[in-house]
Amino acid sequence: MWQARRDFKVIPPRRRTLVNPSIQSPAAPTPGDRSHRGRFAPSPTGDLHAGSLLAAFGSWLLARAAHGEWWVRIEDIDPAREVPGAAQRQLEALAALGLHPDAAVVRQSGRGLLYQRALEQLLDAGLAFACHCSRTDLAASGGIHRRCVGRRQRRNPSIRLRVLPGAQCSFIDAIQGPQSQDVAAEVGDFVLRRADGHWAYQLAVVVDDAAQGITEVVRGADLLDSTPRQILLQHALGMPTPAYAHLPLLLDAQGRKLSKSGPAHPLDPTDPLPALRNAWRVLGQDPRALLGRHDVTSLLQSARSAFDAVRIPAGQQPARRTFAAHNESFTAAE
Ligand SMILES: [Zn+2]
Repeated sequence: MWQARRDFKVIPPRRRTLVNPSIQSPAAPTPGDRSHRGRFAPSPTGDLHAGSLLAAFGSWLLARAAHGEWWVRIEDIDPAREVPGAAQRQLEALAALGLHPDAAVVRQSGRGLLYQRALEQLLDAGLAFACHCSRTDLAASGGIHRRCVGRRQRRNPSIRLRVLPGAQCSFIDAIQGPQSQDVAAEVGDFVLRRADGHWAYQLAVVVDDAAQGITEVVRGADLLDSTPRQILLQHALGMPTPAYAHLPLLLDAQGRKLSKSGPAHPLDPTDPLPALRNAWRVLGQDPRALLGRHDVTSLLQSARSAFDAVRIPAGQQPARRTFAAHNESFTAAE
């Protein structure tokens, strides 16, 4: 079985754990290191709010601390969840916050050819397959796909990555520490292109991170359990694995991610300083470093000088989601 999966041949069956030792301390600043490239990649599902600002500011600070670049990518591959005008307002809010990307903003909606090429590579290598299963078909296995059990051929099947039994993935997150997931048991074969024709997040993000030369992925801890899937995909596609740093989440009293627990208050672009100070505090930084800074430019300057990546707390983890709750294989029509 392992021999059939040729892109995985670097991982002998007895040592299936994927470890990237280079990500043990990516937060340490490396003066003059222009090879460091971070990114902020929001989905245009609403305005920038305190939670997304945390990811934007945190990724910006870590990139600047490493004297690296900071890019912005709009992840607009799911039209059903997109809020009209949100992407533009997010970009305007970033500008008001003084967080300017070092390259032109990229939108995933215009990059379908790149994703198609990656998908064909996986299909040609026998690492991906067409799946006709419906949600009902997979109900008996808790929504986890291990083999096709579909009772009818669908006109437009989804395409899944084949995850072999025992496929595990471990990595060291710069903030959250060692992570491990039995992808086969907990996730199963996962979707790369949905039955409705839209690209799955996992494929698009992996292809874009590689195409854009992203070396450090800094984002909210709600995406921590997506990372093993992305690392498996990187291996399958022969793409490099960046370093990962998952920031603490802003959670409500029930432990839910702020933006999901109700209408998260959008950021006020006309008065960005309180939001920046709040994010600074949540990132574990010394509030005294920003005292007396009454404009964005001087506040960001002080933040860059005083930022200490080691102080970022792991934070409280969100309640672990069941896979079925975020299975990307189905559309609302099902
Ligand atoms: Zn199937």
